Amino acid sequence: MNFEPDPGVAAFREEVRAFLRQQLPPELAERARRHHHPLKEDMVAWTRILHAKGWSAPHWPAAYGGPGWTPLQRHLFEEECALAGAPATCASAFMLVAPVIMAFGNDEQKERHLPPILRGETFWGQGFSEPGAGSDLASLRTRAVADGSDYIVNGQKTWTTEGHYADWLFCLVRTDAAAKPQRGISFLLIDARSPGITIRPIISIDGAHSLNEVFFDDVRVPQANRVGDEGQGWTCAKHLLDNERAFSAELPRNKRMLARLQALLAEAPALQQDAVLMRRVAEAEADLLALEMLTLRALSEHGKPEATAWPAGSILHVLGSELQQKTGALMLQALGERGLVAPDQADEAAAGITGDYLYRRAVTIYGGSNEIQRNLIARHALGV
Ligand SMILES: Cc1cc2nc3c(=O)[nH]c(=O)nc-3n(C[C@H](O)[C@H](O)[C@H](O)COP(=O)(O)OP(=O)(O)OC[C@H]3O[C@@H](n4cnc5c(N)ncnc54)[C@H](O)[C@@H]3O)c2cc1C
Repeated sequence: MNFEPDPGVAAFREEVRAFLRQQLPPELAERARRHHHPLKEDMVAWTRILHAKGWSAPHWPAAYGGPGWTPLQRHLFEEECALAGAPATCASAFMLVAPVIMAFGNDEQKERHLPPILRGETFWGQGFSEPGAGSDLASLRTRAVADGSDYIVNGQKTWTTEGHYADWLFCLVRTDAAAKPQRGISFLLIDARSPGITIRPIISIDGAHSLNEVFFDDVRVPQANRVGDEGQGWTCAKHLLDNERAFSAELPRNKRMLARLQALLAEAPALQQDAVLMRRVAEAEADLLALEMLTLRALSEHGKPEATAWPAGSILHVLGSELQQKTGALMLQALGERGLVAPDQADEAAAGITGDYLYRRAVTIYGGSNEIQRNLIARHALGV
């Protein structure tokens, strides 16, 4: 790795900062800060502002409307957006389903789905997990039975993030019950407003609604909505999960959280005298620096043979998720009894922190739990 400051990097960062100063509406940034689950209208509004600049899909190849940035530029862009308080865009659309459509979809599917995602016109939800299939995803039971040119889908998905916002769901379904578990799965794009779909809220520990259960009762889905061949769903899912893990350190979010912790401490001289607390803060700062170096290493190796030498995605996921929980706990400690107030009634400096702390219990579960990630790291390291 080269640690010398690169003038090109500084110029790019300044270009992004200038754009954010001019184009990010302050009320959007304020809401993103107070609510850890962004509102759909804010996500859509921000996606459209980014699209007007050609920046809505930083990770897409230029051929599909991406800006053609290097991995480092994408990372800097995300970091600056997070620090400025920009709301997220629809990750299920941009980061999860779009790369699968690009890799396995036919021309019609690409034309139908990629441009509306790019413009912020369609919202997507990920229908993988089921009540009996999470870590052991291949045991999923939602069935799709061929009927003429359609499938009839029956079953249930759960934990569907932003499913209540979704225009479309991308789902893993069982199309062959007799085949080996992985081989009998297909990848379907399902219109979320199809008759027979019921979406029910799951209220999480923070009192918020971002998660859902999705029920399918005789839902008719054209076979033309299947991505890839019948039985190729597991390959599509692996491609998607590899992409998901590649961005799993959540470094920008970690930086934003630490900056907020430091701001809380700066206002509280008494806390700065607490040697135990300040030692823990220093540890979190050191962890963040290490995470940043590791992320930059992974970015600099992206697409090169050396990238396969270590399980970067799993390591970054474990470190990044645990750091979020550590920093969240320190913020709560710094707030003291102010942290006990319900998030929306809390004072300005405390807004959203308690709810965010509670919700981030989930970061070591979603995207593959940390126990599963540790298994993957061990398998890689030990070659078993
Ligand atoms: C906030 C949140 C958002 C989510 N969003 C989505 C979404 O949008 N779409 C979607 O499809 N899914 C989503 N999920 C589901 C998520 O992918 C699963 O929760 C996750 O994969 C774990 O599966 P599970 O909940 O069934 O737990 P289980 O698989 O039942 O695991 C229970 C416990 O056992 C441990 N465990 C399981 N197997 C092993 C093993 N082999 N070795 C060691 N330990 C093991 C796990 O680590 C965990 O601690 C979301 C989950 C959460 C919490």
